[in-house]
Amino acid sequence: MKYDVVIKNGTIIDPKRKKSTIANIGILNGKIRAITREDMEGNIELDVRGKTVCPGIIDIHAHVEGDLDCARVLAAMGVTTVYNGNCGMSPENIKEFYNKYDSFLINQIEQIGHTTLREQVGVTDRYKSSSDEEVEKMKVILEEAFEFGVSGLSFGLEYVPGSSRKEVLELAKVAAQYGKLVSIHTRSDSYGGLSSLREAIDITRKTGAAVNISHLTYQFGMGMATEALHMIEEALAEGLDISVDSGMYSGFATSIGSAVFDEGCIEKWGCDYSSLIAGTGKYKGKRLTKEIYEELRRNYPDDTVIGMVGEEYEVFEILEKPYVMVSTDAGTLYDAGVPGHPQDAGTYPKFFKTMVREQHRITLIDAIRRCTYMPAKRLGLINKGFIGVGADADILIFDAKIIEDRADYPCFGATDTRPESIEYVFVNGVITVKGKEVLDISAGKTIKDKCLMWNWEQ
Ligand SMILES: [Zn+2]
Repeated sequence: MKYDVVIKNGTIIDPKRKKSTIANIGILNGKIRAITREDMEGNIELDVRGKTVCPGIIDIHAHVEGDLDCARVLAAMGVTTVYNGNCGMSPENIKEFYNKYDSFLINQIEQIGHTTLREQVGVTDRYKSSSDEEVEKMKVILEEAFEFGVSGLSFGLEYVPGSSRKEVLELAKVAAQYGKLVSIHTRSDSYGGLSSLREAIDITRKTGAAVNISHLTYQFGMGMATEALHMIEEALAEGLDISVDSGMYSGFATSIGSAVFDEGCIEKWGCDYSSLIAGTGKYKGKRLTKEIYEELRRNYPDDTVIGMVGEEYEVFEILEKPYVMVSTDAGTLYDAGVPGHPQDAGTYPKFFKTMVREQHRITLIDAIRRCTYMPAKRLGLINKGFIGVGADADILIFDAKIIEDRADYPCFGATDTRPESIEYVFVNGVITVKGKEVLDISAGKTIKDKCLMWNWEQ
């Protein structure tokens, strides 16, 4: 038997079995077909002695939406599958999206965004709530999308402050009927804004929908992490179907024209304008002044601005929790192929380096589990997130002893510098990244589901 690829002598970490072992992997037709210590023959044979071999990373909170620049940056750090359509924003024509990107650098899964739904039924004012009639129209579009195989529904409530609790609950009910995940970017990100986390938790309590709380640090990592985590733990103890994702950075990024940066944001964060850094555009890398803030809001609403308003120790406090998955929030505006925030290029290497190697907060096996097997289970991806016979051959090979992020905030360095120690990334059995080089390959697929959501267990 001759395999397409044989990966030899790697230290295989399988987060499903929570085991680490040295063995060879045989890949054929995009799947893992054999794992053994015996010698195997392949058209390509790689000896990766001393290196870690684990499932490709599944980023449960991204905004790639078919953007190749973004996908390349993510793939370079080991991401093989992204869950898109977050924070209420999804592609305008979802069916077209699935067809257009069925051959792409990495695998993509979509949600329908609530803000996008509002626009589709003509609710363009973000400070206005939708009428009953408009909600009914949104429900029809949503049902059709779920029938088609779209995997979830997302809310970006902070971006549409006018959306009523009623419209949110009505749409979440549809997701619950179809067994689809509801991702929620909460309504508030400011001190004292924990009632918005209560609102998100209440969505699952009132509708029965499975809920994922998006980028927890960006919402509550400004002095509220302990209380937020406590609230989530109470909800989990109550048996509510809730999960959480969070990233490695304390400063979030979004477009300056969004409601997040509405007048009063400086007061709500208790910072001054210099805590805001331009990520893209003519002021890239510069700290804002009141004048620049006003100019960008007026003339360049799509430019990315980073709010350096979080506490770094809360990043760690959140990610230490065994129920938290790691995510990037990647895919804000790109400037000449370069992201406006280092999260796109550095999240996972930074996670392994800081949480495992430097601070010994979690084990390498657990760290890998939070980026692979946990999101796979949450998204119902039964063939992904583990290293076993029959699994899709989405594989990351790296050196755990030296893995390190090199991307930095735009005021300190380049946001897109490739991490150290990534050896190979496979997407569906095809080598897609080799060292620091991202190849011109399209082995990724768009993935639809048919309500295959697994039962969530802690
Ligand atoms: Zn968001």
